[in-house]
Amino acid sequence: MIDLRLKVDPLPIEIPLVVRLLDEPIDRRTEHDAIILDIDGDRREYEYHGFSLTVHARPDEKLDGDVLLVLPGQASAHRLIRANSNHNTLLVTEQCDQLCVMCSQPPKKYHLDLFDHFAVAASLAPQDAMIGISGGEPLLHKERLFQMLSTVTGSRPDLRFHILTNAQHFEPQDTERLVELGWDRILWGVPLYSADPETHDKIVGKPGAFANLERGLATLMRAGASVELRTVVLQQNWDDLVGIAKFIATRLPFISVWAIMQLERIGYGRMNWTSSFKDTSADFEQAARAIDIVTARGLEAWLYNFPLCSVPDEYRRYAPSTISDWKRKYLEFCESCGARETCGGFFQWYDQKEGFTGLGPI
Ligand code: SF4
Repeated sequence: MIDLRLKVDPLPIEIPLVVRLLDEPIDRRTEHDAIILDIDGDRREYEYHGFSLTVHARPDEKLDGDVLLVLPGQASAHRLIRANSNHNTLLVTEQCDQLCVMCSQPPKKYHLDLFDHFAVAASLAPQDAMIGISGGEPLLHKERLFQMLSTVTGSRPDLRFHILTNAQHFEPQDTERLVELGWDRILWGVPLYSADPETHDKIVGKPGAFANLERGLATLMRAGASVELRTVVLQQNWDDLVGIAKFIATRLPFISVWAIMQLERIGYGRMNWTSSFKDTSADFEQAARAIDIVTARGLEAWLYNFPLCSVPDEYRRYAPSTISDWKRKYLEFCESCGARETCGGFFQWYDQKEGFTGLGPI
């Protein structure tokens, strides 16, 4: 697994520090850049404003262009941007107002506002990068989030963002700001777990969530925003998948894409695995019907986090490799598989003993 934290020698800092690591000076050097001075085994020394910054990493680890966040008193740095990866996500808060049965990042009460630092980090990302923003629920800090997005989209018009939100906190008065941010700059990833309000509310652990979600989606629609609806398949909503497809086709045809997703076995997803995981390698029928319904209406549908061999042959074209590089793995039988190059494999925390029953090399 790729490490998203790097050991650093402690720095005498009192406020968080955002620093970009460079192997050599570049033309448009910024005040946040540190240039390498020396490499000795897993120890790399950088020059930063006349001071020494020491980072520890495997000798074969490429760090050129990576952006780190160093917090006071901590001996490890958060690797916010990996220059060689398309899977960079800023976790802007761990607070959330929902309690989803499959949450991979269970919420915490405490919030540390690092939005200004995230803005700096994003502004140092490689050209044309797509940056993920997630939580918790980022829109719990809507003003700060919008400020950050305005700052970055102003200085770096080449960047795009993919923001995960439960869409509980959009108000009609946000429409203008959403328009200003640009429909082509931000893709909002919004979960919808059932077309039945009661089932959706139960899955997200919040009464009234479905009604708020409908209002939030209406605001996004008025703003012409790009929306990726996301439905994690669960035992709890499996029989409603066709209902969700019909709901999308008739009520939400403005969305950009519908992502049908497999469960991640971590956080509450691990705790509730036995009662929630749906083995779609044994029974794919509802998913197939759901895909057929939305695609027949000209909408785009995808299967996220599905190992290719868990999907019937005729639906594999809907299953791109989506698991982030740093948390992806393959199993022993994948070694002899001809589809390995295009298959997204499994989450690091997937356990075959409790997982899909119908897998095997293609
Ligand atoms: S055998 Fe492994 S690599 Fe091949 S499709 Fe299945 S999960 Fe993917």
